Amino acid sequence: MIPFFNYQSLFKENEEEYIKIIKDVCSRGAYILQKDLEEFEKNAAAFINVKHLIGVANGTDAIWLGLKALGISSGDEIILPSHTYIASAAAIHFIGAKPILAECGNDNMLDINDIERRITNKTKAIMAVQINGRCCDMDRIKEIAERYKLLVVEDSAQAFGARYKNTYAGTFGAFGTFSFYPAKLLGSFGDGGALVTNDDKIANKVRLLRDHGRDSHGNVIEWGFNSRLDNLQAAILNHKLNNFPNEIIRRREIASMYHKGLNKIKELRLPEPPMENSDYFDVFQNYELRAKKRNKLKIFLEDNGVKTIIQWAGSPVHSFKNLGFSESLPKTEEFFTECIMLPMNITLKDEDINYIIQKIKKFYK
Ligand SMILES: *Cc1c(COP(=O)(O)O)cnc(C)c1O
Repeated sequence: MIPFFNYQSLFKENEEEYIKIIKDVCSRGAYILQKDLEEFEKNAAAFINVKHLIGVANGTDAIWLGLKALGISSGDEIILPSHTYIASAAAIHFIGAKPILAECGNDNMLDINDIERRITNKTKAIMAVQINGRCCDMDRIKEIAERYKLLVVEDSAQAFGARYKNTYAGTFGAFGTFSFYPAKLLGSFGDGGALVTNDDKIANKVRLLRDHGRDSHGNVIEWGFNSRLDNLQAAILNHKLNNFPNEIIRRREIASMYHKGLNKIKELRLPEPPMENSDYFDVFQNYELRAKKRNKLKIFLEDNGVKTIIQWAGSPVHSFKNLGFSESLPKTEEFFTECIMLPMNITLKDEDINYIIQKIKKFYK
């Protein structure tokens, strides 16, 4: 059996080290807003070359806290792709603004050519979603934003460490957000998230908002909320950061193996492989491809012991009619009839990847 993601082995592969960290943190009674969080915030910010990284409770909170700090409010509109997790749109909804959903482009990211026609006089921002560990074409998004005087924000939950033209995901616009959900690139043993920004004002505001509006002396400066990143999770994440560059190398290696093994199959459309001297440095949160006879392939692989996933249960955001969406986005809908994710994580062995490749070849033969 090759599971899609091995949650147990996340802990087991380094059990002794983690027990040591948990003992250390708990015996200090250091649970909330302690030095481990501060250290993680400093180290993780340095890792992606950003001035501020603020730990918050999860990736969804990070988005709405950022929008709140920007002063986005009711009546405002934000353009984002429908090919994303419901959380991206929900954060916009809960700030009182309206998520305006756009098409999926040929690169499976936000379709740059579908942004301008959705801009109205209520539009405040474009939200780039850095799906699967890859950045959107940020030059073109920034160009449109500048022309219409819009903000750029990033849901980079899936792209910690990804780069476009040597700028890190999360650091292109007013703010970016990350999720440390266990199965994310940098995963904790529970929920966790962060907001990053180079803007001191946004950073100060989010620091207040995440802790009941209190400053470092405990004075309440404004209405706030509780959305702190757990200190214990921060200690774990800080430790994981040490080996994170190696994990990215391994993910890119696996992506190269998949590419080499599968790129001759004409029924498949693979993601771009990792390349030197590319504008894109992808970190492969997921290995998502488009496949003809997708549902049959999924069953065939399952019968052969390989678990795959169809992202977000096969549903783009605009398909959730109970939420009031009524648009039709044919390119996105077509994508969701073909998309499938193969196992992509650091617990996979070369022989696992070769086995998966061999089975897919057999299916299309
Ligand atoms: C995981 C994810 C989120 C939400 O993160 P949580 O930590 O689960 O709240 C938001 N957007 C995208 C694209 C994600 O993949």
